[in-house]
Amino acid sequence: MIQTQILIVGGGPAGATLAKYLSRAHIDNILIQKKFDFKKPCGGGIRMDAFNEFELDTSQIIKKIDTIILAFKEKRIAVDISEMPLGIVERCSFDNYLREEAQNAGTKLFEAKLIDLLVGKEDVVSQVRFADGIQEIRSRFVIAADGVNSSVRKKINGDEVSALVTNYADLSGFSAQDCEFHFGSHIASKYYAWAFPEQNGTNIGILSQGERPYIQNFSQHLGIEESYKIQGYKIPEFENPIFYKERVFFVGDSASQVLPFTYEGIYYAMSSAKLLADIFIENAAPCEYEKRWNTKYLKKFTTLKKLQKIFLANDFMISLMMRLYNSKKVQKKMMRLWLQEEELQLNLAFFFKVLKKIF
Ligand SMILES: Cc1cc2nc3c(=O)[nH]c(=O)nc-3n(C[C@H](O)[C@H](O)[C@H](O)COP(=O)(O)OP(=O)(O)OC[C@H]3O[C@@H](n4cnc5c(N)ncnc54)[C@H](O)[C@@H]3O)c2cc1C
Repeated sequence: MIQTQILIVGGGPAGATLAKYLSRAHIDNILIQKKFDFKKPCGGGIRMDAFNEFELDTSQIIKKIDTIILAFKEKRIAVDISEMPLGIVERCSFDNYLREEAQNAGTKLFEAKLIDLLVGKEDVVSQVRFADGIQEIRSRFVIAADGVNSSVRKKINGDEVSALVTNYADLSGFSAQDCEFHFGSHIASKYYAWAFPEQNGTNIGILSQGERPYIQNFSQHLGIEESYKIQGYKIPEFENPIFYKERVFFVGDSASQVLPFTYEGIYYAMSSAKLLADIFIENAAPCEYEKRWNTKYLKKFTTLKKLQKIFLANDFMISLMMRLYNSKKVQKKMMRLWLQEEELQLNLAFFFKVLKKIF
């Protein structure tokens, strides 16, 4: 039987980042990733400061975004984010790079799939399928970094990650220069549709509760004529987050750590993984992970959830949000709320002042 201190299941941004930081601190770990050539369906947009924060090579960035477009019906607002730009990565290459970084730091990396796990008092025994057959891995802890369809979560907590459905398509004949977010009931119900530049064209998609495939309305709206293949994948909602249960820690999508409103998950997967690594490095109690995460992010996540509920409730509220965004001051505050850990209270007080002015 293979033995390790920590078995990490899933080599996406959450699992690979955790593995890197554990290895740097000389904590023995194994990282298993189902398939090395898996390309996570994703727009690949990451705030650029993440590259500094997690010491990542900026050559992974295939495009830098200084402007985002907010659109509702015929109205388009260009928001300057050059102070805090976004970088677009190609997920297959990015995830492989993150896993290589972990491996270079000392992680034992395998292309293998978790089949089952049995939690005991002192350790966990996991059944893992390798290319040459099934083997058991005994570890002190298991990390569920296995994404939105987490099988570990089903097994350990008996539930699924609460999620929205995304429908998306890769287009070669249409090129978006900036990251575009489109709102309105005709396109994306109470969520948004996006058009993000990628290596060879544009990735378009919509978020919905799966009740209606809006993507055709969106592509018509963009004037796209080429035919395309619509694909689907789930994205977590910030509902019933889970941190630790029975020797198993949860991180990234499996823990529901995706920011409401923007549905940005890569940064929070990596950041939560770094928080979790510190728990092991400091030998802190497992409950510390949830405490520290809540101190850092709970207010921000719940505020954005409330703002989403208010501003994306219906087309009237969306048009109001667009009016707010006409103000450069609002744009700046909103970008800071989104991309920096700004004082929320101050921002909210500011929004209510602007709302009062509008009415
Ligand atoms: C269409 C779409 C667009 C998105 N666009 C953006 C965006 O532009 N910016 C952004 O920040 N976020 C975006 N997201 C969200 C982002 O993709 C996720 O939040 C992020 O990938 C979460 O990272 P993770 O490591 O937790 O999970 P994942 O990236 O899903 O990684 C989990 C890994 O675990 C592996 N795995 C699963 N089960 C097993 C098993 N049993 N054994 C071994 N390995 C296993 C999987 O193969 C996978 O590689 C988007 C999501 C979708 C669906």
